Amino acid sequence: MNSPVRRTVIVGGGVIGLLSALEIARAGHLVTVVDPQPALGATFAAAGMIAPSAEASVEHPEMAERAMASRRAWPELLASLKPFSETSLDLFEVGTVFTAFDSSDRREIQQYLDIARSQGHVFSSDIPAGDDLLRELLSPRITTSDFASADAFVDPDGVVHAIMKALAFLNVEIRRQRVVATSHDDQGVSVVCESGEVVAGDRGIVATGYDGSPLPLTSRSSHVVRPIRGITVRLFDPESSVGPMVRGIVRGRWVYIVRRPGGSILIGASSDESEDRVVEVGALRRLLEDAATMMPSLEWARFEEVRVGLRPATPDHSPFFNVLVSQRWAWSSGHFRHGFLMAPNAARDAVAFVES
Ligand SMILES: Cc1cc2nc3c(=O)[nH]c(=O)nc-3n(C[C@H](O)[C@H](O)[C@H](O)COP(=O)(O)OP(=O)(O)OC[C@H]3O[C@@H](n4cnc5c(N)ncnc54)[C@H](O)[C@@H]3O)c2cc1C
Repeated sequence: MNSPVRRTVIVGGGVIGLLSALEIARAGHLVTVVDPQPALGATFAAAGMIAPSAEASVEHPEMAERAMASRRAWPELLASLKPFSETSLDLFEVGTVFTAFDSSDRREIQQYLDIARSQGHVFSSDIPAGDDLLRELLSPRITTSDFASADAFVDPDGVVHAIMKALAFLNVEIRRQRVVATSHDDQGVSVVCESGEVVAGDRGIVATGYDGSPLPLTSRSSHVVRPIRGITVRLFDPESSVGPMVRGIVRGRWVYIVRRPGGSILIGASSDESEDRVVEVGALRRLLEDAATMMPSLEWARFEEVRVGLRPATPDHSPFFNVLVSQRWAWSSGHFRHGFLMAPNAARDAVAFVES
């Protein structure tokens, strides 16, 4: 370690706060995470796709490289978490097949893929050889186009569970409290919890997803973060097996299907401007209908669960790690649809900040 041992307070225990806490603790620092309900924000609803091909942005072409760098960090991260997991905690390197329903959907997919390609994403022109099963599963009305081999998925619940166990092993304290205010002085930082309890440290990181309210208004003026509600649906089909993910557009709406081990199938995701964590019947119906249009056999899958989360979105959908003027606080947010993919990047920035 190149820096003195620092006491770090992390406000927010979603995937960003938890993985940042882990890497800071692994670097030899003392960490306290404060969150009334760790891992139950947007993190709870995530599909667990580690999919840089879905991260192409006209405004931010550099995001492609950042996304690919974060993707490359995942095998080592999972290997380091394996001792803390009862399951195998695999990275399923299955890739993504892009699909479209009608001619307008095809045009939109092609436009997206052109942008992604221009930013360095690599696609091959067909479904990988040997996956005849996927061809059989997709409706004959669906056209497949490009295949992104770098995309993968994890079990997001398994990853979060292992991170929490690793945090306990490293004596990272998790205080189940809601933070109502943050402050700093020459000595360090402190947070005030709803109960009146105060937690102090040398450095602080706010990783509260879409809700930056623990920070003073002046500190929040640098970025606008708003909630975009999304749902994922978990299904079960004993006949289903792991295979390439499918991401496509059906009648103008994006939809994806992740076939996981043990017959589990995850479909996602709706996208609405809303701060209400509710599942609307219309959103659920559209998502199921679009997924079954792509893969008709889903009509016979068993419904298991629907989860809802509020994604932290910036106007240009770009995540940020913003060191605030006090130099003692940082704000890590805006990970929108890719908080799992981008968490290793956010954690690396967090360690650099604590050691600065
Ligand atoms: C439907 C859906 C599907 C998704 N699928 C994927 C995917 O496949 N791959 C991917 O990479 N990403 C995916 N995402 C995006 C990903 O889930 C988010 O980008 C990520 O969870 C953001 O993490 P976060 O830690 O910033 O926020 P959150 O997970 O929302 O965590 C914020 C935490 O802060 C806490 N908090 C808030 N206010 C306070 C306070 N005042 N005091 C203390 N604690 C506070 C909350 O309790 C919460 O635990 C998906 C998101 C959704 C909604």
